[in-house]
Amino acid sequence: MVRIVDIRESTISLASGMRNAGIGFDEMTASVVVVVSDQTRGGRPIYGCGFDSIGRYGHGGLLRERFIPRVLAADPEAYGDGTGSGLAPEKVWAIAMRNEKAGGHGERAGAVGLLDAAIWDLQAKLEDKPLWGLLSERFPGASTPDRVAVYASGGHYRPGEDIAGLIAELEHYRSLGYRRFKIKAGGVGLEEDRRRVEAALACLPPQGSLSIDVNGGLAAPDAHAWLAAFADYGLAWIEEPVDPLDYALLKSLGQSCACPLSTGENLFSLADTRNLLEYGGLRAGLDFLNVDISLSYGLVEYLRILDMLPSYGWNRSACIPHAGHLFALHTCAGLGLGGHETAPNHPLMGSFPDGFALEDGHIRLGGAAGVGVERMPGLAKVFDEMLRDIRN
Ligand code: MG
Repeated sequence: MVRIVDIRESTISLASGMRNAGIGFDEMTASVVVVVSDQTRGGRPIYGCGFDSIGRYGHGGLLRERFIPRVLAADPEAYGDGTGSGLAPEKVWAIAMRNEKAGGHGERAGAVGLLDAAIWDLQAKLEDKPLWGLLSERFPGASTPDRVAVYASGGHYRPGEDIAGLIAELEHYRSLGYRRFKIKAGGVGLEEDRRRVEAALACLPPQGSLSIDVNGGLAAPDAHAWLAAFADYGLAWIEEPVDPLDYALLKSLGQSCACPLSTGENLFSLADTRNLLEYGGLRAGLDFLNVDISLSYGLVEYLRILDMLPSYGWNRSACIPHAGHLFALHTCAGLGLGGHETAPNHPLMGSFPDGFALEDGHIRLGGAAGVGVERMPGLAKVFDEMLRDIRN
């Protein structure tokens, strides 16, 4: 039987000067979690690691006060997978969520999602498989479970940076092997955004594509006219045009906009996603869903969301999760989702562990056990600190 003997959380600063249409990142934080089991390999404990989805701050308080104590207090029989040598992530999830009322998901969903990521990483290591491999075995359907289409997400507004800076950024992504780009929009005047979009389109490689991310920046009565101004650029999609919960405005935009729309990164549950599909007017076969796996209670809840999609005429190829974190990359590949967002310029998230390769707009994932977040060049130091006594 596997026993979870320790769960560690650390909150780190991600402060930077960049902005999107909605927020600046000058106070940004994120949480790092390590779940330690009583199992060993090579004389050392087997552990699972998780790193926050960036953009909604760390989750340390909630984890330390409620979710970590509940899991540590549980009887290992209550979260075992029945084999005696593994965990059942859905049982750990249920223990963490004990005594939590329905609805009002908010930051709680991100705290549980982060813990869930570390539990899946631990389980993959216990099985000595990469997470994408574990997922493709349990939930078959991906045609290339170790390979997934990716796009480079960037083009933030940065103080003092002009169009030349944007072009340099996108040319860098192109030189790395990316073919599809996404840039921010809606945070400056319409004409300036048009100049940015036109400059970005000129950077695209053959068969490349551009999408724009408005980060909920539009509102009535101007939203229709703003969207119409970008209708003829052949954009791959326009992301989160309005407030994430303004389903009525989203629906009316979809009725007049031929360009694909994309949203959902600030929804946090199965019920939220069902409401989006029920009331948001999104068009199956054209639009995309960006629900963030780790911000919406983790993979256990995300699997429920995937199960719900067919009843609305959707399938998993329309899912391009928000985030750019490695946990999402494994999930996108292993479950055969529509694609993965990466943030190549992010100092912590921008590069991949050894064994991963970017080839012609796709990432081929490595075969090492687990997710590998602690082996990412940008995060290795953070995890070294948290794992020092375990590794020594
Ligand atoms: Mg977005």
